[in-house]
Amino acid sequence: MSSSSSCVHVALLPSAGMGHLTPFLRLAATLSRHNCHVTLITPQPTVSNAESKLLSNFFTAFPHVNQLNLHLLPSSSSNGDPFFLQFDAIRRSSHLLHPLLSSLSPPLSSFVYDMTLTSPVLPVATAIGVPHYILFTSSASMFSFYSFFPTAAESLSDCDGFDIPGLSFLSKSLMPPQVLDREGVFRRLFMEDSPKLLKLHGVLLNTFEEFESKTLKALNLGYVVKDLPPVHALGPFVPCYEFEGLGERGEPLKWLDEQPHGSVIYVCFGSRTALEGKQIREIGDGLVRSGFRFLWVVKGNKVDKEDEENGLKGLLGTEILEKIRKENKGLVVKEWVDQRQILDHSAVGGFVSHCGWNSVMEAAFYGVPILGWPLLGDQRINAEFVVSNGGFGIWKKDWGWEGERLVRGEEIGEAIKELMSNESLVTKAKEVKVAARKAIGIGGSSEINLQKLTEEWKKSQ
Ligand code: UDP
Ligand code: UDP
Repeated sequence: MSSSSSCVHVALLPSAGMGHLTPFLRLAATLSRHNCHVTLITPQPTVSNAESKLLSNFFTAFPHVNQLNLHLLPSSSSNGDPFFLQFDAIRRSSHLLHPLLSSLSPPLSSFVYDMTLTSPVLPVATAIGVPHYILFTSSASMFSFYSFFPTAAESLSDCDGFDIPGLSFLSKSLMPPQVLDREGVFRRLFMEDSPKLLKLHGVLLNTFEEFESKTLKALNLGYVVKDLPPVHALGPFVPCYEFEGLGERGEPLKWLDEQPHGSVIYVCFGSRTALEGKQIREIGDGLVRSGFRFLWVVKGNKVDKEDEENGLKGLLGTEILEKIRKENKGLVVKEWVDQRQILDHSAVGGFVSHCGWNSVMEAAFYGVPILGWPLLGDQRINAEFVVSNGGFGIWKKDWGWEGERLVRGEEIGEAIKELMSNESLVTKAKEVKVAARKAIGIGGSSEINLQKLTEEWKKSQ
């Protein structure tokens, strides 16, 4: 874009986990390419190996991006999830940001921080006195729920859901169970953070206007929450070959090269979802039953640093491994894969996904139909969007949240057949791909939104 934004200086503060770090780095790369000076604040130490590797590749590829380490105080939470402990540690360390940010040169034009850090970072951002934004790392649909939730939370105990003003009825069955739990920590965070949205200068989203048009309109016209600040759709955040998936083309890509066009179902539940062993074995059974070729990423632990403990044999059992070997139609890996290149590979014809929003946007960008298997958090709201509005996927509502019930191999096999034989999903996914690329191309909606935003930042200096 223009050189007019050349003196804009943006600070970015991501939160824990690849689902939060990846969109921040993609945004950092985009801003940097648009001539903004970028400072990336990196909470240390990171939780996973995947995060530290991605950061190191990023700073090699973008040496002109300024890195500021935020050395975290330990978390005081008793919640055992390592990613949650990290959210908590970043929240508790946020007072350390003020001296780091106020001494930056050139002075900041704007500050973008993760949605999970709203309450503690807001006073720091306000004190520094620059326009500040959260990057909401999920869908506009999830954001409409998040922003409206405190208004309607109390009414939920005696009804099946609520109407989001300007949008439609949202069934309780789609809402994140962690947020419905009255005593839960997520509920507390939603109730504490969401009302503070009104104090922000805006909200950035990895989506695009043509994709979630109705929701974005309702948000920006103030139907969902009156006086909500502007919501800027800047996506899809483009996977970035300069720092993602560097190094040798691994075994999965070499294997895909040997497979026919559109023949492979790719199975991956994101960066941090580890299923129980018995569910993993049913997936193996389902994949074999489907009769399709498959590339399956198995995760035995939430955090990759612990993954070495459990081999594929230990997770899958010898019986299913033997079946897979005999059929010779699938590749199973238990390692970090380059999802960007996999979804971009012509052999891939479908994606079994937990519907983490980054995965959904990547599938949209590469035009791959989804079999949604939402497991927690925002994932059902995202899956519902993919099916009802995006129109490029299916999901089975009776499969339950993570661990609620064992989904049998027969069911999985049938659902995969349904996905892989549905030509209309392929057509729809191709249309979504064209629209996604148009949005970020010259004159596209997201490109224009980004341009307007950087112009505003420049003016406010
Ligand atoms: N991812 C990847 N390789 C893996 C697992 C995940 O590249 O083996 C990437 C994926 O492409 C996406 C991110 O990690 O960009 C996961 O984010 P998402 O929002 O889909 O799910 P989460 O991990 O937050 O549950
Ligand atoms: N969440 C939030 N505030 C927090 C922590 C989480 O709003 O401090 C949101 C989070 O983004 C997600 C839901 O709560 O929508 C469940 O959190 P989880 O850690 O499972 O989400 P993820 O990191 O996979 O996006």
